[in-house]
Amino acid sequence: MQEKRDESIIREFRRRKSRQFYAVGMVLFLLVAILWKHSHPGLLLGELSKPVVLFLEAALVGAFFAFSASNWRCPACNHYLGPNIAQEYCRKCRSRLQ
Ligand SMILES: [Zn+2]
Repeated sequence: MQEKRDESIIREFRRRKSRQFYAVGMVLFLLVAILWKHSHPGLLLGELSKPVVLFLEAALVGAFFAFSASNWRCPACNHYLGPNIAQEYCRKCRSRLQ
């Protein structure tokens, strides 16, 4: 198979990858922050009830998957890239990604 190499695709993939890392970091931080808040009622704001905590955690995870589904795609053909963050080529169009 012919390797396609395009610097603008590699640049765009790098941007998407760093967005993905920021999103993972932010979601993990918020998940922990909500759990922490749940076990420390009285500090700041009010108390978070268990259903509210479960709802917020589920909403965060859902938002993360929705974000990934739109962000984590091949810049060339828009194919979803899957769980491997280190892949060098798009499995669909064989564009070089990094
Ligand atoms: Zn592709």
